[in-house]
Formats: sequence, structure tokens, C-alpha cells
Amino acid sequence: MNLFNNLSISNKFLIILLLVSVIPLFIVTFGFYRLGKDRLTKQTIHTLEVQAKNVNATVERYVNYKFKHIYKLAKMSELISILRTNEEARPRIVSHAIASFQARLRIDPDFLSISLLDREGNVVFSTDAIIQGNYAARPFFSEAVKGKNFVSAPCVDGGIAGIYFSIPVKQANKILGIATLQCRAEEFWELFEHESGRVGQGNAVILSNSDGVRIAHSTKMDLIFKSWVPLNPAIREQMLKERRYGSDITDIASTDIPEVMEAVTAVPPPRYFQHRLAIGKETYHSALQVMDNGWRIICTIPETTFLEPVHANIFYMSIISGVIVCVIVVASLIIGRLSTKRINTFVAISKEVASGDFSKEVPFTNGDEIGQLGKTFNAMIRSIKRMIEQLKDLNAVAVEIHSHIEIEQLLQDLINTSKRMIGAESGVLALLDETGEKIKYFKVSTPNPSEPCHIKEQPEGKGLLGMVIKKGQTIRLDNVANNHASVGLPLNHPPIYNLLGVPIKIDHKVVGGLLLANKAAGERFTGRDEETLLTITYQAAVAIENAKLYDEVQRLAITDGLTGLLNHKEFHRRLHEHIEGSKRYQYAVSLLMIDIDHFKRFNDTYGHQVGDYVLKVISDIIKTQTRAVDVCARYGGEEFAVILRESDAPYAGILSERICSTVYAYPFKHEGVRTQLSVSIGVACFPRDANNAKDLIKMADEALYMAKRSGRNKVCVSTPLNQTDASG
Ligand code: GH3
Ligand code: MG
Ligand code: MG
Repeated sequence: MNLFNNLSISNKFLIILLLVSVIPLFIVTFGFYRLGKDRLTKQTIHTLEVQAKNVNATVERYVNYKFKHIYKLAKMSELISILRTNEEARPRIVSHAIASFQARLRIDPDFLSISLLDREGNVVFSTDAIIQGNYAARPFFSEAVKGKNFVSAPCVDGGIAGIYFSIPVKQANKILGIATLQCRAEEFWELFEHESGRVGQGNAVILSNSDGVRIAHSTKMDLIFKSWVPLNPAIREQMLKERRYGSDITDIASTDIPEVMEAVTAVPPPRYFQHRLAIGKETYHSALQVMDNGWRIICTIPETTFLEPVHANIFYMSIISGVIVCVIVVASLIIGRLSTKRINTFVAISKEVASGDFSKEVPFTNGDEIGQLGKTFNAMIRSIKRMIEQLKDLNAVAVEIHSHIEIEQLLQDLINTSKRMIGAESGVLALLDETGEKIKYFKVSTPNPSEPCHIKEQPEGKGLLGMVIKKGQTIRLDNVANNHASVGLPLNHPPIYNLLGVPIKIDHKVVGGLLLANKAAGERFTGRDEETLLTITYQAAVAIENAKLYDEVQRLAITDGLTGLLNHKEFHRRLHEHIEGSKRYQYAVSLLMIDIDHFKRFNDTYGHQVGDYVLKVISDIIKTQTRAVDVCARYGGEEFAVILRESDAPYAGILSERICSTVYAYPFKHEGVRTQLSVSIGVACFPRDANNAKDLIKMADEALYMAKRSGRNKVCVSTPLNQTDASG
């Protein structure tokens, strides 16, 4: 079975075709042959029987006719009187009888001669001069003397083949002699040949006596009887010795076919009508007992003769079968080649594709099954190619996204890349803060960045992006152009035709959402777009998480842990930055140095924990009193520094006063402790009071020192460079 499975399709096809066509063809041919042969055999056997009976009837008719004639011709009384006449008187009677018989025979062509033999077989008289002497050994005498009518086998006497009909001449049941009439064997043979030739073609008929000696035969006998010598040497010897069959025994011989001889020499049963059929391998024989003197008719036919038409048919059928087999083999080879040619091409191309060459496509795309398979295969290759391209793009996107460490840049890049990959006109991205309540980052990308953006940050759950974030589900909308209100867009929003929104998730938690609008070239967003966008956001999630962590680390690095203000180091960096900005853009920068009054004493009184609480409260007060652009830092211990951008001394003074009074008015309560605190503030301005950062700090410090010295809970503004006095 394995061997069959491993065969090529065309070979399998050939084998199956041969099995389903050739084997039944041979079975049918063989069946027809057997059927035809059986029917013909039956028919032939029947024909043989009929033939044997017909020939038998003819022979009997002939013999009976001859005997009847003999009785008419040879009057018994005449013959008796000759035999009873004594020796002296006999010659005269005999010569008279011979003359009388010769006269009768002349007008009667049935018999050639008539002879009379006495009881010892001596010839009493004969119309034929050559018949003289003693015939006691010849069957026509020896058999007839037993008292019955006898017909001899043909024998040659005087060069003429003849048959002797003998009748006993009796008086009062006493046999006195034998009358023998000779007729031409030729006549009988012609009759026999004619009768046996009438029935059946190609068969042979022989009439034999019980010695197996041929009496007559059909013309076809040379087909059957090969030689004409007696079968049994003992019989031949005996016959020669006795001269039983005339002078030339070798001319009357029998058959050497054992089956025929068996039929001929079998002991005849008492019944007159015995039929025996011997069927040899190649020859069929029918034997029939004729008369009561041991004659038999044997009809013989070789199988080849009557099976000739069947064999001819078989021959033609074999040729036709052979031609059919050849046609089938050739057809199956051609069909197999044709049908497997494309499959083989298919196999070769799929191997190349399997080895990674996706540039190959199968060349057949017609309507049949293989063509359909080819189409599907090509579509599959294109799809794989597209997926590979997409994977490459996604990989490039991942690399690009992960290259950003700054969250702002990352988000902007994420939205731009998504737009490019999906082919959208514009997009909007929102990221929630740590609480998940508010939007912390919000990015927009429009076809024309210089155009004002109409999309505003939406509170969570409102608007399409809010909905995506709240439900954590993807949305894909078409035909939204005429129905802006239903999707929560303002009426003056530029036309949006279709939308695709996906949530951004980190560890199954929705942290934001990305919304793309208007697929390029008037197309719609597809399921594939949706998958791609989800993959991009999935890739981005890790980068976002990293960027957020980085952002946090950055924030912690520049922040004071206790108060949440910028630390000392960051303060210096920012101060330099502001001074550089001030120098480039010509604006004033003010520096506030704030110190808590008598804080050591406060700590000593209430402990450091309450002191820390106070530091936090005062930090918050400073933060709330200043603007977002101002830089608030913990300078050290219980000292704070504030950098005011684009602020001159009067504004700085006013702000410092406000901080001072707010702190002083603040009711500090902590663990049952209620107290009042104050701060002193020194103010210096750049470039009015100093040329650089270091000097500016120094000037602010000096102003603070002045404030302390003049009673605390005060603001002192540094004196300009060209003045010596400072005023509070
Ligand atoms: P003055 O009015 O002259 O400023 O008096 P003062 O006691 O505040 O003197 P100074 O400014 O020198 O005080 C420094 C004190 O601030 C020392 C310390 O007890 C306190 N301090 C410094 N850093 C911290 C801090 O982080 N936590 C707490 N609780 N106290 C601090
Ligand atoms: Mg101090
Ligand atoms: Mg102090």
C-alpha cells in the first residue's frame, strides 16, 4: 500500500485505469469464450449423434435393400437343387445356372458376381472365373456358415474392390451351402461418402467392422486417420495368414487413434442401438453400433474444427482488447502527463516559495480545480508577501517607537506613524494620568499642522476618543460626514468621512486611546487596518510605559523629595537657562530667596516632623502664589528660591510681599499644634542687580540678610548695581 501511495499520480492513474478497464475486458472475453465453446461443444455432440444415426440408417437401408435383392435374384430352390445334385450331374446344371445368372447380372448392375459355396467353403460355381478353390477362411463364408446373413468388409479380388453379401442356403434348417454375391465397394463408398458428407463440415466418419477394419469412410478422414495399417499386429498377422480380407490386406487398414479404436473394438452390448461418445482433449468421437454383425459408425471431429469460429472471434477480440489496452495506456499516460504537468509545476513553485522566494507565482489560473487552486495559491503568496511587508513595517515602527525615551516625542511619533501606516488623514491620541481619571497627554496630527486644531481634550467618556478609552473597545465608523453631531464632533469640525479608534492598553488596563480619521483616497478603514493599528498600539504600550517611567525618574532627579519643588541642582540649571534667555531675548529675571524665621527654635520646640510639615505647607503657598512659568525650588534646609521669568523688581517685590503675608496669615495646625510662622525674602533682579547667576544669588542672599536684620517677616529688594542703598 505504501508503495502505491508513493507512486506518482500519473502512475496511480494508469494502474487504476488498467484495473478497472483491462481486467473486466479480459474477464468478459474469457467468459464469452467459455460460453461460446460450451454451446458449440453441445451443438457439435448433438450433430455427431444425428450424423451417426443418419449414416447408420443409410447403411442399414443399403444392406437391407441388397439382401432383398439377393433373395429375388438368387432363388433358393435353384441353389438347393444344385447343391443336392451329385457330382456327375452337377457340371451340366452348374453351366446352365452360370449362363442363367450371367444373363440376369447383365441386366442387373447391383451385383458383379454370384458364387455358390458348399458347406466346406469350396466354390460350387461362380459367375466370376477367378473365384474358385476354397474360401473357408474368408469371413463371407465362415460367418455365413454360422447361419446368418453376412456382409463383408471390402476386399480386393482380381483388382476390383468389392463387398460380399453372403446368405446361408438351407433346407429344413440344415445349411447346405453359402450363396455369395459380390458388389462394387466403390458404389457403397460413394453412397457412404455422400451421406457422411451431408452432415457436418470438417468432421470425419468411418464405418468399421469388429476387427477395426475400415469398411467405408468420409472424405475428411485424412484429417483424423493418419495411417492405414492395422492397429493390432496380432490381428494383422492373423488376417495375412488367413487371407481373410482378400489379396491386398494393406489397402484395408484401421485407425491408430486410441479413442477411436477403443470405441471400435469395445465388446458390443446385446442391444442394437449402442451409442458411445468419447471426448478427447482435442477430438470428439461418437460411436454407434450398426446391425448385429459388429459394425460400428464412428463420427469424429477435432475441437479445432468446430471451435474455429470461436477461436477466430477470440483472436479478433484479443486484437481489439490489445488495441483498447494500448489506447488506454497511451490515453492514461497523456491524461496523466497533462493533469500532473501543472501539479508538478505547482510542486516546484511551492518548494521555491517554501524556501523563502515569494516572487514566484503559479502560471495557471483557469477555471478548473487546479486553476482555482493556483488562483488561491497566488492570492495566498500575495497575502503572505503583504503580511511580511506589514511585519517589516511594524518592526520598523517598533524600532522607531522604542527609539524614543521622551514621552512627548514618543506620542507624537506614534500618532504620525499610525497615520502613515494606515493611510489616514489625521489622528488624535490621549493618554490618562496615573489615576486613570484625567487625560495627561494629548496629541493631535492633522494634514496641515499649521491649521488650527478643532479637536479638544474630551473629558473621559465623552466624544469618540473618550468612548474608546472608557469602553476599551475598537470603533470603526463609515459615512459619518453628514452626521457629525451623532459622533460628538462640533459642527464646525472639518469633514470626517470615516473613523478608526483603538484603545491603548498596558497589562489589559486601558491607559489611553488613538483615533484616526479619513482613510486616504476615499477608501474605508478595513479589519486589516484595525488589526495593524492594534498591533502598533500594542507595540507602543511598552514604549509608553518605559517613557513614563523615564519621565518619572527624570522628574524625581530634579525634584526635592519632601516638598515636591525643584531641587538645588535643578534650580541652578534653570537659573542659568533663564539668564541665558534673558540675555538673548532681553527680558528681566527676578530671583527670590526665602528663609523661614526662627526655624531652629520652631524645630526645637515642636520637633522636626512638625518642621517638615511646615516646609511642605510653605512650599505649597509659594507654588500657588507663583505662575506656572515661574521656577520654585528648595534651595537648601528651610530656604527656598523662586525664579520669576520676565519680571522686574517691582513685580517681584509685590509677589514677595504676597508670599510673606500669606505665610504669616496661615494657621499652621499639626497634631494639635497651632502656630504662626513667618518668612523673610530677599529679591534681586537680572540684569539690574547682577551680571551673572552667581552674583544674582549673592545679591538676593544679601537682600535676605537685610530682611532678617531689619526684623524678619519682611521683603528686601536688592539695590541696583550703581546704587549703594537697598530698600525693602
Ligand atoms: P533665623 O530667623 O535667623 O533664620 O533663625 P533660624 O533659627 O531659622 O536660623 P537658621 O535659618 O540658621 O536655621 C536653620 C535651622 O533650620 C536648622 C534646622 O533646625 C532647621 N532645618 C534645616 N533643614 C531642616 C529640615 O529639613 N527639616 C526641619 N524640620 N528643620 C530643618
Ligand atoms: Mg536659614
Ligand atoms: Mg531661618
